[in-house]
Amino acid sequence: MSSLHEYSFFGAVEKSFDKAAAFTSWDPGVLEQIKQCNAVYRMHFPVKVGDKIEVIKAYRVQHSHHKTPCKGGIRFATNVNLDEVMALAALMTYKCAIVNVPFGGAKGGISIDPKKYSAYELEKITRRYTAELIKKNFIGPGIDVPAPDYGTGEREMSWILDTYGSMRPGEIDALGCVTGKPVTQGGVRGRKEATGLGVFYGVREVCGMKDMMNRLGLSTGIQGKRVVVQGLGNVGYHSAKFFEEAGAKIIGLAEFEGAIFSEKGLNVDEVFAHRQKTKSILNFPGATNLKTNAEALELECDILIPAALENVINGENAGRVKAKIIGEAANGPLTPEADEILVKKNVLVIPDMYLNAGGVTVSYFEWLKNLSHVRYGRMEKRFTENLNSQLLNQMESLSGKRIDPQDKEEIMQGPEEIDLVRSGLEETMITATREIIDCWQKNKAIPDMRTAAYVVAIDKVATSYAELGIFP
Ligand code: GLU
Repeated sequence: MSSLHEYSFFGAVEKSFDKAAAFTSWDPGVLEQIKQCNAVYRMHFPVKVGDKIEVIKAYRVQHSHHKTPCKGGIRFATNVNLDEVMALAALMTYKCAIVNVPFGGAKGGISIDPKKYSAYELEKITRRYTAELIKKNFIGPGIDVPAPDYGTGEREMSWILDTYGSMRPGEIDALGCVTGKPVTQGGVRGRKEATGLGVFYGVREVCGMKDMMNRLGLSTGIQGKRVVVQGLGNVGYHSAKFFEEAGAKIIGLAEFEGAIFSEKGLNVDEVFAHRQKTKSILNFPGATNLKTNAEALELECDILIPAALENVINGENAGRVKAKIIGEAANGPLTPEADEILVKKNVLVIPDMYLNAGGVTVSYFEWLKNLSHVRYGRMEKRFTENLNSQLLNQMESLSGKRIDPQDKEEIMQGPEEIDLVRSGLEETMITATREIIDCWQKNKAIPDMRTAAYVVAIDKVATSYAELGIFP
């Protein structure tokens, strides 16, 4: 396998793409166009930090314009580099295609360690980055719409919105220039936990398929499954919570400083609170410490959820992975070398570009909300409640029986924004899972679910190009 220094994340995405492209019959020129990044913007800008001037390196890559706007998060991390941002932008294109979200893929990144800066300095960096994007026409509700990613969240998104709004006064759809905003700033309810919930819906759907589970020697359903989650950030924390609520046993959790294990099961919120308090996941009462977080990836379990960064399971450690299912909540946690080893071991890898698409799906709902200037549920909630109430009254008078008041209350309820967002997300993840599995089952030569997901994505993007026509 390639050493860490030689590893090219974009190269890995290209490799997976080529593997899948061989199962399609699209023109090689179209395939080449899909694979490349359409526009790459690398910038340097100065920011005053303390009494020094620091030169900040940042990127925004638009991978595909087959649909616009482009869409994808912004990452703040020391190791952010062009190769990584290009790979993540490409994954966004395929991700959006698979879940039928009408965007081209993009990604941004600032090469900083956010922990080393004060909130004020981070705000200056974020605002300056946004101003650079505006100058080059790399941001806007119809152009390119950023969102949170590793190291960023609601706070950074509201700085982006505010900078955009002040430099583009009067733009009526300005709220749609970024997603993942706080609800008070035009965000949508349910965006924060969306990626984790999407991971859960996707894995649950696969675990509900009898033939898939038979092949792995597992029973159907989530109940009782032994789960390990690597990463307790926004995605990892919420994934772990949803698995726990559905009756799975969280036997291992990992963070930078190490990992903990308990066969009896860990209470996710208690571990989270323990880490907040002690600044470490280690020494959680009743659990066994593992020295490195990499050891958690090798625990014996049913479902392993890597929810941190890319390249954590590779040619070196894939042979020691004992999970039966790997649900890629992070982007690119497995290298192509790991894929090959795991296929031979009959491990089912549920691929990132579909499994973690819950974030961008709900970002799409947020963007639609911003363009329509109305909260979900506002128009229909009361109407549905009145209708349900009439129906229930009719049922009572026709049957001569009374419905339990508590049941009545529940049945009557019209949908709130959060209900609509979650049902839209659930529908999206279920449809995408079935489409990928269908494609896999129809072509027995496709070796794994990742390749099947790429085939589905390539078909959709290529169809879009075919319909658009290539510019003469
Ligand atoms: N950063 C997230 C991802 O990798 C979300 C992107 C978005 O919402 O646009 O999918």
